[in-house]
Amino acid sequence: MAQMFYEHHADLSLFSEKTVAVIGYGSQGHAQAQNLRDSGVHVIVGLRKGKSWEKAEADGFQVFEVDEAVKRADVVQLLLPDELQAKVYKEQVEPHLKPGSALFFSHGFNIHFGQIVPPEDVDVILVAPKSPGHLVRRVYCEGFGVPALIAVHQDATGNAHALALAYCKGIGSTKAGVIQTTFKEETETDLFGEQAVLCGGVSQLIKSGFETLVEAGYQPEVAYFECLHELKLIVDLMYENGLSGMRYSISDTAEYGDYVSGKRVVAESSREAMKQLLKEIQDGTFARRWIEENQTGRKQFTAMREAEKEHEIERVGAKLREMMVWVSQKEPIQQ
Ligand code: NDP
Ligand code: MG
Ligand code: MG
Repeated sequence: MAQMFYEHHADLSLFSEKTVAVIGYGSQGHAQAQNLRDSGVHVIVGLRKGKSWEKAEADGFQVFEVDEAVKRADVVQLLLPDELQAKVYKEQVEPHLKPGSALFFSHGFNIHFGQIVPPEDVDVILVAPKSPGHLVRRVYCEGFGVPALIAVHQDATGNAHALALAYCKGIGSTKAGVIQTTFKEETETDLFGEQAVLCGGVSQLIKSGFETLVEAGYQPEVAYFECLHELKLIVDLMYENGLSGMRYSISDTAEYGDYVSGKRVVAESSREAMKQLLKEIQDGTFARRWIEENQTGRKQFTAMREAEKEHEIERVGAKLREMMVWVSQKEPIQQ
C-alpha cells in the first residue's frame, strides 16, 4: 500500500519565514504560485521579459529575472519547460542558490536523467501535481485540491520531507492525498502514462475511431461526437466511480460491447508496444531522443505538431464547439 499523506500530516507554518520563488509562470507556474499565495505563503516569480512576465504582474506578483528571484528566495520551484531547465539552471539558478535552501521540481526528468546536478548543501524535492496546471488552480479555487506525488532526492537540512508536505498543503494537494514516491518512479511512470495512455494512447484511439467511421461514409460531425466529445462524459463517470461506476451508467448493450470488443482493439500487440515504450523510458532512450530533438531545433516535433493541427477532427471539432459555449467558455487547458 502506498504511503499517503493528508492535511494533518503537513505544517504550512514551515513556510512562514520563507520566500518561495516560482520560476516560470506557465501551466504549473501560474497555478502553484497563486495557490501558495492564497494559502498565505510569500511568493515571488522568476521569468524573462515576455508574455508570462506581463501575466504574472497583472496577477499582482513581484516579478524578477530568474537570477534575481533565486537570490531573494529560500525555496526555488523550477517550473520551466523540462527541455530548457538544464540550461537556465546552470546559468541563472545554480550560481545563486543559498546553502540550506530548497530546490523543488514538479517532474523528475532533469534530476533522474542527470541533466541537473544540484550542490550538496540544498534540499532537492519533488512535488508533482497529478493534474494539468489549469486544473491545479481551478480545483483549488473550488475549495479542493488535486493529488500530488512527493519525493526527496537530497535531504541537506533534514527537513526536506516536511517541506515537501508543507508545499503540498499550500497548493491544496493534501486535501486530495499525497503519495510518497521517488524521482525515478515519478519520472518513469509520468512519461509512460502520458505516452501510452493519457496523451499518446487516447489521442491515437480517438483519431483511429474517427477515421474509421468517416472512411466508411458516416458524417464527420457524428463521428466527432461519438469518438471525442462523449469521451469526456465517459471519463467523468470513471473518475467519479471507477470502471464499474461507468458501466453502471451505460446501457447493457454498451457494456457487453465493452467486454467483447475492447480487447480486440487494444490487443496483446498494444501491450507489447507498451512494454517496449517502458523499456525505452527506463533505459534512457526516450530521454536521449527528446534532448537531442531539442538540441537540433525541434524540426520533427514542429512538423508533427503542425500536421496534427490539420487533422479533419480538429476542423470539425472547432466548428461544433463554437455552438457549445459551455464547453469552450472555461479557461483553456492549453496555453
Ligand atoms: P509551460 O510551458 O506551461 O510554462 C513555462 C514557463 O517558463 C512560461 O511561463 C515561460 O515564459 C517560462 N520560460 C520559458 N523559458 C524561460 C527562460 N529561458 N527563462 C525564464 N522563463 C522561461 O510549462 P509547464 O507548466 O507545462 O511545465 C513546468 C514543469 O511542470 C515541467 O517540469 C513539467 O514537466 C511539469 N508538469 C507540468 C504539468 C502540466 O500540467 N503542464 C503537469 C505536471 C508537471 P514565457 O511566456 O516567457 O515563454
Ligand atoms: Mg508529464
Ligand atoms: Mg452510444
